[in-house]
Amino acid sequence: FCRETKVFHNLRDPLLLPPESLPLSAASFALSLIPSPLPAQPALVDAATGAAVSYPDLLARIRNLAASLRAGSGVSRGDVAFVLSPAGLDVPVLYLALLSIGAVVSPANPLSTPSEIAHQIRLSNPSVAFATTATASKLPAYLPTILLDSPRFRSFISADAAAAAQQQTVEVRQSDTAAILYSSGTTGRVKGVALTHRNFVAFTAVYHALTREAEDELPSVALFTVPLFHVFGFMMALRAVVLGETIVLMERFDFEAMLRAVERYRVTYMPVSPPLVVAMAKSDEVARRDLSSLRVLGCGGAPLGRDVAERFAARFPHVEIVQGYGLTESTGGVAGTRTPEESKVYGSTGRLGSNAEAKIVDPTTGEALGPGQRGELWVRGPTIMKGYVGDAEATAATLDSEGWLKTGDLCYFDDDGFLFIVDRLKELIKYKAYQVPPAELEHILFSHPGIADAAVIPYPDEEAGQIPMAFVVRQPGSMLSDEEVMDFVGKQVAPYKRIRRIAFVSSIPKSPAGKILRRELINQALSSPKSKL
Ligand code: AMP
Repeated sequence: FCRETKVFHNLRDPLLLPPESLPLSAASFALSLIPSPLPAQPALVDAATGAAVSYPDLLARIRNLAASLRAGSGVSRGDVAFVLSPAGLDVPVLYLALLSIGAVVSPANPLSTPSEIAHQIRLSNPSVAFATTATASKLPAYLPTILLDSPRFRSFISADAAAAAQQQTVEVRQSDTAAILYSSGTTGRVKGVALTHRNFVAFTAVYHALTREAEDELPSVALFTVPLFHVFGFMMALRAVVLGETIVLMERFDFEAMLRAVERYRVTYMPVSPPLVVAMAKSDEVARRDLSSLRVLGCGGAPLGRDVAERFAARFPHVEIVQGYGLTESTGGVAGTRTPEESKVYGSTGRLGSNAEAKIVDPTTGEALGPGQRGELWVRGPTIMKGYVGDAEATAATLDSEGWLKTGDLCYFDDDGFLFIVDRLKELIKYKAYQVPPAELEHILFSHPGIADAAVIPYPDEEAGQIPMAFVVRQPGSMLSDEEVMDFVGKQVAPYKRIRRIAFVSSIPKSPAGKILRRELINQALSSPKSKL
């Protein structure tokens, strides 16, 4: 912590990054870091079938696909490619191929409804989509779509490597947008987060430096329980490739199938969100499986309770939980635990990463605070997003002129530089670490003829972390029931966004400017038994 500038930073030497002016794509940087000679273990494994892709094959597939997309489908630098697919073996190949030709990868949750997808497509304006036979029907008919499970796509990835090599390489600038991921940020509806190649290069460089420190360890076998369309899974996939690890993918997450996969593939590492740690700490099923290969869980995306971490540690003393904190807007992790000792500081998400700076800002006075004091966390560094696509207003509200990203999280640093996330100042609800923007659910509630007013807040839940709860004001004369409201919303949103608790009230508390007083509603929900609400 620097007393003059009131800025927190890591005490390690800043990591050296390639010069910003050097043309470089996130893919070519990542692929240049893969250990040489190429790892003997597979790069990708399908958990259900055991189908595997070796490292030489991975590189050939990326090269062939990149060349075929340019030549065969006219995908070129700057084009946005919308990706709607479960986590299959082709997805990491597709990401890296698109990045290598300077196309912008924009992956979305395949469970989204057509109207949610239409909103995302309006934001990112793709010229091509990649889907599967099962998901393609959710896409607008006008959008040219390539099916990953089609003979055409198979021919793309197996195209003649010699022909692929003849293709001219594309010059990608690091300042170019590499991906558009979706996040509601601190307020309002879903927005498109533009991340640059530079953001990805900076992130990848950190992970590469970390491995060198742990060179004596065998490369991991990483089972992905987090989705590849979210920043966590996206970055973990890049990280795994750079470290020469094996990525084991599950098309659909299922707890028992996950345990079987850990046993079958001798999984050593799993990126997870807190609900999975809760499930593992509680489940009887874990005792029936040989999970002795497991060494590390990388946990992030939502708060991990101290009691859960302790319960997990008592049950799995040989497994370390490495905690990480980050946002889509920061290309993932900006703080994390790096040693077994740091991981035992339960309740903390670790220290700031290399190249990240932070401030703790008093939300009312705007004053920067010191260690031990709570305020909004602001972060700055080379992994911070370029902005929200097509939304200068939201960008300006989130990123200030000096490059600070306002996270909307209430936090403090202790005297040893450990970061503690205390609460969320922003509207966002996280159900099992998935983003649920209240504004989106309120928008749907307002469209119901029997609803006069509504507000949605997070309600604590042991298993999911938080569930969306709605306060609803009925129209005079309306007899609307809990079930009717839940069904009405449930039909229009992905399953994780469903409203799971309702209170009918006579009015919604608002500020003089008409802003919903969410804190008041949260306190009301927490203090009243359900029957009284
Ligand atoms: P997302 O953009 O979906 O990754 O959501 C980012 C938000 O998730 C952060 O602003 C936090 O509110 C929350 N979050 C992420 N990681 C953690 C963590 N380790 N502990 C507490 N909250 C977290």
